[in-house]
Order: sequence, then C-alpha cells, then structure tokens
Amino acid sequence: MLTPAALRAWLAERGYPVYRARQVLSWIYCRRATSFAAMSDLSQDLRAALAAHFSIPTLAPVCVARSADGTRKLLFRLEGDVAIEAVLIPDPPRLTLCISSQAGCGMGCTFCATARLGLLRNLSAMEIVGQVLAAQAELHPGERITNIVFMGMGEPLANYGAVVQAIELLTAEWGVGVSARRITVSTVGLVPAMERLVHDTSVNLAVSLSGTTDEQRARLMPINRRYPLAALLAMCRALPIPQRRRITFEYVMLAGINDSLDDAARLVRLLRGIRSKVNLIPFNPFPDAGFTCSSPATIRRFQERLLADGVHATVRESRGRDIAAACGQLAAARAPQRDSSADSSPEPVH
Ligand code: SAH
Repeated sequence: MLTPAALRAWLAERGYPVYRARQVLSWIYCRRATSFAAMSDLSQDLRAALAAHFSIPTLAPVCVARSADGTRKLLFRLEGDVAIEAVLIPDPPRLTLCISSQAGCGMGCTFCATARLGLLRNLSAMEIVGQVLAAQAELHPGERITNIVFMGMGEPLANYGAVVQAIELLTAEWGVGVSARRITVSTVGLVPAMERLVHDTSVNLAVSLSGTTDEQRARLMPINRRYPLAALLAMCRALPIPQRRRITFEYVMLAGINDSLDDAARLVRLLRGIRSKVNLIPFNPFPDAGFTCSSPATIRRFQERLLADGVHATVRESRGRDIAAACGQLAAARAPQRDSSADSSPEPVH
C-alpha cells in the first residue's frame, strides 16, 4: 500500500533521495495525478518501478445522498466489504467535511448508531484522506472545504497511527494543503492518545463528554470506566493548548438523562481552569435508540446556565437528519452494489 512511510522506505532501499517521496506524494495529493506515468519530473525507470510496485489509491463514493438543507452524505464501499460515510455540511461562509476514521466503532457509546456496528476495521491513512479528495470532487463550482472534522464513524484516537499520517498528508504543503487550525479531532477521551496528539500535531481537540458524574457518564460511554472524569479533565487541564485556542467539549443532550440544571452546574465545575467551549448536540434519533432528545426549552435553559457562569456554550444545529447524516446517525453497515441512488432526492423532512 502506498503510505508515505512505505514509499519512503521503498525509495530508501533503492538508494533514491527522500525528496522523491515528497514529489510522488505531491503528484498524488496536490496535483491529483491518477497514474505514475504522469509524474513528469521523475525518471522513466522510477515511474515504471513505482507503477510495478504501488497503485495510486482512489476512493469514489458509491452513492451521494442530498439533504433538503444542503448537507451531502457520501457513502464509500471499501475493501473487506465494509462501508463508511463522510458528510459535507455547508454553513456559509464555512463548508465543513466530517470524515470517518474507522468502519464501525468499538467504543460502545449507548446513544450512538455507529457503536451498534461494533468495530469492523481501522481505516488506512489513504482511506481517510481519500474521503477528502472524493468530497472535493463533489463540490459545486466556487465551493471550497474550509474545515475538516474527525467526527464521522469511529474513534480517531483508537486508530492513532493512520489518523496522524492522514493529518500529515492533509496539512503538508506538498499534500492537500489544509491548515491544521482548520482540522478538529474528536475523541471519547482516550487520555494517553490525547496527549500524544497534541504533541504530534497542531490540530484542534474536541472531547465528547456527555455526562457530569462518573456513574452517569459510564452508563452512556463505557470508556469512562477506563478513563474516568477526573483523569480526563486533569489531562485537558495539563495539555499545552496554544493561546487563543480552546478544547471543545461535546455534550449530547438526552432527555431526562444528562440535561438537568444540576448537570449544567456540575459541568461548570468540571471545566474550571480549562480553556474550553461547550457544544451542546441535540440527540439525533435512530431506530431502537432508547433515548429521546431534550426539548428545545431544556437545551436553552442548560445553555443559559453555562453562559451565566462564564462557560462558552453553543448549540449544534442538527444537519442532514433527513438522510441520516447527523451526528451519531452514521451506520452504513454495507454499501449497495451499484450507484442506484446517486441523485435520488431524500425522504421529505418531517
Ligand atoms: N468517536 C469520536 C468521534 C465521533 S464524533 C467521539 O465520540 O468524539 C461524533 C459526535 O457525535 C460525538 O460527540 C458523539 O458523542 C456525538 N453523537 C454520537 N451519537 C449521537 C447522537 N445519536 N446524536 C447526537 N450526537 C451524537
């Protein structure tokens, strides 16, 4: 497989200088070459050898669903007959792309549809970056992806190596050329990997909290048994987050579960001393979820309580619910064989 590491090793073994790797990667990720033959600044011999040894990875969606609100969901079928999704979310002047890091997920959060699949497999760096390239090919004239969030299927920090490699490809100026400031990695709170990520990259960090006591959070997010709130928040406090940046704390609003004013008060206490912002996510339903979303009035009261105590808090607008593209709804178990629904209009919004 043509990973940057494999390419560098392969070139080094044959006595080529390392900058050749950068040239090849730049052809693929920056100039979008689809064959080694097109790489005109490499010798014929090297082009032939590369073509004999590697293939250029491409990812094409098998289907694109379009929401009434402009959200577009790309469905990909990958090796091993697993499927993943990426979601383009226009929010002018921003255009955010939400990408997957794993097929399925092993974290078991009880309110998330992806968790029901279990972990099918990790994605490679190529499969992660491939989602970005494929989404760029779907853009309308004049559109440009401004932000990339690892908030699709999977737990990015449970696939650490591939995610960091993908970030390298996305941010390198010889690569896709997206600024790290515009990339956010969201995690359930894998504490040691959070520290590594902040050390190894300069992307933004988002932590899914969704609970304010260990007992309550562990019921929603089993990872809390391994990394309880005290350890998680101590790490957030200690991370060397650059000035003018904040850690985002995502909080899924579940009616009668974690949405009381006591929760809001506890949340304020938990976040003391952390440069943070809270993003309240109205729960997005899926079949047999067993939860309902807090009412708009409850969400507003919760937010106001946070704001009153000086905690920066916003409510995430649910986008693409009509095509099951909203947070926590990505659950493509298997992709269709043909591109039958490519331009089909989605179900009407209820
Ligand atoms: N595994 C990472 C990345 C997934 S991000 C993480 O958990 O952070 C997806 C975000 O959507 C997380 O904040 C998650 O808590 C939230 N989410 C999951 N299921 C949801 C649902 N049904 N409705 C709303 N948000 C949900």
